[in-house]
Amino acid sequence: MIDMTTQTILNEPAMTQEERRWLLPVYPHSPIEPVRGDGVMLTTREGREVIDFYGGHAVALLGYGHPRLLAVLREQAETLFFQSNVVPLEVRARAGRRLVGFGPAGLTRAFLVNTGAEANENALRLAFRKTGRTRVVAVEGAFHGRTAAAGALTWGSAKWYGFPRTPFDVTFVPRGDLEALERELGGGDVAALIAEPVQGQAGAYPLGREWLAVAREMTRRAGSLLIFDEVQCGLGRSGDPFAAQTYGVTPDLLTMAKGLAGGFPAGAVLVSDEITRMLRGGDLGTTFGGGPIACALIEAVIDVIEEEGLLANVRRLSERIRETCVAGPVVDVQGEGFLLGLRTRRPAKEVHLELLEKGIFTGTSGDPQIVRLLPPLVLKDEHVDTLAGVLRELPA
Ligand code: PLP
Repeated sequence: MIDMTTQTILNEPAMTQEERRWLLPVYPHSPIEPVRGDGVMLTTREGREVIDFYGGHAVALLGYGHPRLLAVLREQAETLFFQSNVVPLEVRARAGRRLVGFGPAGLTRAFLVNTGAEANENALRLAFRKTGRTRVVAVEGAFHGRTAAAGALTWGSAKWYGFPRTPFDVTFVPRGDLEALERELGGGDVAALIAEPVQGQAGAYPLGREWLAVAREMTRRAGSLLIFDEVQCGLGRSGDPFAAQTYGVTPDLLTMAKGLAGGFPAGAVLVSDEITRMLRGGDLGTTFGGGPIACALIEAVIDVIEEEGLLANVRRLSERIRETCVAGPVVDVQGEGFLLGLRTRRPAKEVHLELLEKGIFTGTSGDPQIVRLLPPLVLKDEHVDTLAGVLRELPA
């Protein structure tokens, strides 16, 4: 369905050649080169204006150039650019208090890191330590990161994993299959079940309130820990602070990253009291995690989400997308809040490119029929209306 005009506009960006000259050629690039961002709008090198419904893999949580983030970034950089965890920092304590207050009741401490994979590695390490067991259960379709442990839990990672063996035993259960889960947990050797409450990379698949609630009960009975990976679905994207609150299920460990500091690298693990009690000084560590700039931004991101009523914005506009965007090639909308999958009649890749040609940047996913939306929480009605209008004009 891509015509000649689309082909010419959507050629490989010139900068791709330059990157390939100097960097490992491991990223297939989208056919746009953004040079500026403002709110949810990107400007490309050719001067095209594009609505960003993808947010740089969900990282641009507050869009681009939010005045509060810019002010905090500048102020913290000028005051104290960096110090490590070898010293206490007021800004780090404030970020911790804010994050714990934002998270589900029952998770009372934070460990600050840099990325989603690092958050998951540390959550797993704690689960093995706490239970003394050797096995992990994950869910088919899951994406948990690319490091040795996180990659071992990622569905289909054999094609890129790259290590000679996985560091521990992993079993995958089909999405929604409680019998399989019960069978796996029954052996008494499972340290943890790790799950994204709404699977992101898989194509915006919610695991479902019931599955999560029963999984909570089963893990408790089996003496296994429950880890929620909210790297993609957390931090307001579900319409609540975290999907744990959306579904009313509290895990033992909750991981996050991506938009946590609004685009500055930051990740975190929220931890229950029971796990915190077994820890001693030196048990976990990182150089950059909990640095002052990341911490100042974490605090600011949560302030902005609350002060600007962004959770209500997510819930309202998510509903509007569901109501208006089943149009043209889209036959259904799945997911939660601002982690949505548009199910397309035609290959999602094709629809993704057509939308881009019309000035709307979306994502694809592991599901070839799903166009993924991960817009900044500051999205407005007019952006949704533009998306709906463009979809209506695309061939079914
Ligand atoms: N977990 C989930 C659910 C993710 O979507 C991702 C990244 O896409 C990760 C973990 C890994 O995060 P990072 O790339 O920051 O290591």
